[in-house]
Amino acid sequence: MNKTRKLYVKSFGCQMNVYDSQRMADTLAPEGYVEISSAGAADLIILNTCHIREKAAEKIYSELGRMRRLKEAAAAAGRRVVIAVAGCVAQAEGEEIIRRAPAVDLVFGPQSYHRLPDLLARAERDGKAVDTEFPVDDKFDRLASPSSAVTRGRGVAAFVTVQEGCDKFCTFCVVPYTRGAEMSRPVIKIVAEIERLAEAGVREVTLIGQNVNAYHGEGPDERPWSLARLLARCAALPGIDRLRYTTSHPRDMANDLIAAHRDIPKIMPQLHLPVQSGSDRVLAAMKRRHTRADYLDLVGRLREARPDLALTSDFIVGFPGETDEDFAATLSLVDEVGYSGAFSFKYSPRPGTPGANMSAQVKEQIKSERLARLQAAIDNNQAAFNRSCVGRTVDVLFERPGRHPGQIVGRSPYLQPVQVEAPASLIGEIAAVTITEVASNSLFGVLASSSRYDTEVAEHSAPAWRHHSAHRTDPSPNLPSQAREKFERTGV
Ligand code: SAM
Ligand code: SF4
Repeated sequence: MNKTRKLYVKSFGCQMNVYDSQRMADTLAPEGYVEISSAGAADLIILNTCHIREKAAEKIYSELGRMRRLKEAAAAAGRRVVIAVAGCVAQAEGEEIIRRAPAVDLVFGPQSYHRLPDLLARAERDGKAVDTEFPVDDKFDRLASPSSAVTRGRGVAAFVTVQEGCDKFCTFCVVPYTRGAEMSRPVIKIVAEIERLAEAGVREVTLIGQNVNAYHGEGPDERPWSLARLLARCAALPGIDRLRYTTSHPRDMANDLIAAHRDIPKIMPQLHLPVQSGSDRVLAAMKRRHTRADYLDLVGRLREARPDLALTSDFIVGFPGETDEDFAATLSLVDEVGYSGAFSFKYSPRPGTPGANMSAQVKEQIKSERLARLQAAIDNNQAAFNRSCVGRTVDVLFERPGRHPGQIVGRSPYLQPVQVEAPASLIGEIAAVTITEVASNSLFGVLASSSRYDTEVAEHSAPAWRHHSAHRTDPSPNLPSQAREKFERTGV
């Protein structure tokens, strides 16, 4: 029997990392590792890192300084602490991490975490271990599954990775280098994982991938299945009431996927569809492979299929060569689409990507000014969308207790957090809620006897909020930075 040891995993970046962190904990559970929620008492600390922007990567080194001090304090008390760096910074920087932060014992990339027990043994034997290979074996086949109790403890809404890597090579992005070529998991494996989640009480599943709608995994008929077909299969699984998927590339929004938003009621009416810029000149320089008109046409077709579809996006400001005119085109696109929320970033040159070597890099101060203006426009859209929900009755999947006693929190179909005074026994249930108020991007509501949600959808040819979103001045356009950071991480 393995000795019990304490594991602390901290995730940075996207949902893919949150999912990977959980799978690392699952892989280490049979070795006797029990997950804890703070680093202080841990025997093994894993930082699962993000390399998408320079700030995200640098954050890791300041975090490693803190972990080194914990390790030294533990050593002084006669306890060994192992520090591991995982994820995309590990993949991109490899041994350089140990050179810059010698307290680190183990560095491993996103494709190696199924080998964690071996890697830990290697680090113990040799002092240090580094593994940033893209192995040929399928890590998903070798991962342990969590127990039903552990799954349930993680909540009623779960992520499932269905696709990894990316072949698009947008000129600003490190993902194709850190996560490797596109690969899709077979349908049968995904279905088995979701069935296990459903048995443990999970009601909502978000299928995730760096470029999820490029999904082309092998179906039970040994032919490649599209994401639409996979979603239809998942919708047939007992116990699963809600489906989402993220992140999608506009070029891969196939007709069958658009139709799935019309035909499969379990697909929630919310879609993250990053556009990055509203300027064709910038889109071409980014090698996004779509124009502004392509994107707007796609939005039109999606809203025809699902009139109440809430759209979110990612934007980059200050890509090399972006002029005031290009930026104005981005601002006008925001109001033309009418987003329910969006992530926005200053362009961060990433070593090894074509963008980093482009001349005409934009000054930091201009990037900051543009970011503030863009975020104000996005906040106006979001506030208008939230206000349009007041008075409506929507189905809410309750996920956890609220901040105040007697309150519980769940998600609307549009992914907004909704706070309701209701018994904790409703956690894990879907109930109809009438929205009464909006504050700081959270909705507040009361339990309704029945949901008018479906009939409302049928009655509206276009969501009313879209007609209000343009050119609106919001009294509090900027989220505080902490709230924005949380939004960037979690989408709320
Ligand atoms: N696959 C998604 C797509 O095609 O849009 C995006 C994945 S990426 C992990 C998430 C977001 O980070 C991107 O949509 C982009 O807005 C932002 N991002 C990526 N590289 C960036 C960079 N070098 N500087 C600033 N933001 C960046
Ligand atoms: Fe990066 Fe997304 Fe472009 Fe792939 S499609 S290179 S993940 S931004």
